Amino acid sequence: MLPLPWIKSEINYKIGKPEADLMKIRVRFAPSPTGFLHVGNARTALFNWLFARQANGVFVLRIEDTDRERSADKYEKSLMDDLRWLGLDWDEGPDVGGHFGPYRQSQRLEIYKGYTQSLLDKGKAYYCFCPPEELEKTREESIALGKMAVYSGKCRSLSPEESRRRVDSGEEAAIRLRTPDSGSLDYHDLVRGKLSFDLGLIGDPVIVRSNGLPAYNYAVVIDDLLMEITHVIRGEDHISNTPRQLLAYKALDFSPPQFAHLSMVMGKDNTRLSKRHGAAAVEQFKKDGFLSSALFNYLSLLGWAPPDGQEVLAKNELVRLFDLEKVSRSSAIFDYDKFNWINRQHIKKLTPSQKAELAYPHLRRAGFLPEKTAEAQQEWLERMVEVLSNRIDRFSDLPQEARVFFVFTPQEMDEEARKELEAGCAPQVIGHFAEKISQVKEFNYDRFAAFAQEIREETGCKGKDLYHPLRIVLTAKASGLELDKLIPLVEEGARLDFPLPVKNCSQRVSEVLEVLKK
Ligand code: GLU
Repeated sequence: MLPLPWIKSEINYKIGKPEADLMKIRVRFAPSPTGFLHVGNARTALFNWLFARQANGVFVLRIEDTDRERSADKYEKSLMDDLRWLGLDWDEGPDVGGHFGPYRQSQRLEIYKGYTQSLLDKGKAYYCFCPPEELEKTREESIALGKMAVYSGKCRSLSPEESRRRVDSGEEAAIRLRTPDSGSLDYHDLVRGKLSFDLGLIGDPVIVRSNGLPAYNYAVVIDDLLMEITHVIRGEDHISNTPRQLLAYKALDFSPPQFAHLSMVMGKDNTRLSKRHGAAAVEQFKKDGFLSSALFNYLSLLGWAPPDGQEVLAKNELVRLFDLEKVSRSSAIFDYDKFNWINRQHIKKLTPSQKAELAYPHLRRAGFLPEKTAEAQQEWLERMVEVLSNRIDRFSDLPQEARVFFVFTPQEMDEEARKELEAGCAPQVIGHFAEKISQVKEFNYDRFAAFAQEIREETGCKGKDLYHPLRIVLTAKASGLELDKLIPLVEEGARLDFPLPVKNCSQRVSEVLEVLKK
């Protein structure tokens, strides 16, 4: 017994199906686990998710793993991890279950078989014995003549008895859907408007390969109809599949869902976004220390914009504002500079403890932090990260900024900084400073300000001539964090036990002087 169809009616190809509006919205994201989650696919998942959440509908995750050679469990796992990291939770799926499972195509093969048999019985599908080499040759010949490669229909007229006999004798056969030779097929795409396809250019699509596995265009239809999907929102690369799928709906006597095809995500050079452009997989953005809230936000702006043009938006605002029908048809350009900016805006919104938590793995990997931070270290870490977070686009940039605390190597000071320490007022200024700092037990920013004032009076050096040598002597660098922020953190950090000990200001000054002597 086949599972009961959810709706059975005459198909209206001309326009989207109004019945869908009366039902609960059900959408799906249907990745093939053959690689890491690309931002283009993540954007597809996101638009589906926003559409479902806004309508109080259902978001289904379906794994399309019928390509057994290229599918791998590790990719299924990473797809799910990346979706979760992005904050895209699903209501039904292989791990959470649901009433319409199983949610992996490889576990649905029996279901497809049942439908195929009924199509064969009704003469809506037929066995095709054409050898792949012959099909390939005809295909190449058509292409050479500048024509579309359309199946000739050679096996269409074989009698069911003959086909049965050949199949039973073990001859390899695919199964094709019998479709009209001419005419056109129109449908209304929610993003692209009316689309029209010439049926004469489609040919009878293979629905089951000779290895017994269902073709994508067939499995997807049976899944979408049995899972009661009301809206198929997916990438534009599937537009040419849609007429084949509509023909399968017709053959199966089901009305199709509505379709919305999203433009591709491109790099600035107008080619499909790939590693050549920078990070293109969600996993890479995660590793690079970007915030999931920022990627969520930025992905939503790829091909859509809220009515007031606002660009920094939180998840709940996006759910409220998203409008599938306002999604643009033109390709969306992934602009890394813009994304960095969005990420910075999201960093600003975090609390100090959230920032410290996100910074920790990066600082730990750099060897700056212990496996477990003590309370005082944690408190210092929060202040340090808070101060440095204004200077970074993403958390993986933080170790570079934090080096000023943990790595003080004046012997590696660059030539320019060293020359500055040896020119003009500098030797005098740092000499006075070294003398003063060696005499105090406790150093802090107030002391620093007082010393600077005294040195100014004692040496007559002021402004840049005074402060620049002081900065270099404390950091071994010619530029960086403001000293009123740096000094307290250096002094307090030096009292804490870090794997790479923070050197206090007095130590720093003596080490620089040592180096200058050489
Ligand atoms: N499995 C297909 C892909 O990963 C998606 C199919 C669909 O959304 O219809 O491209």
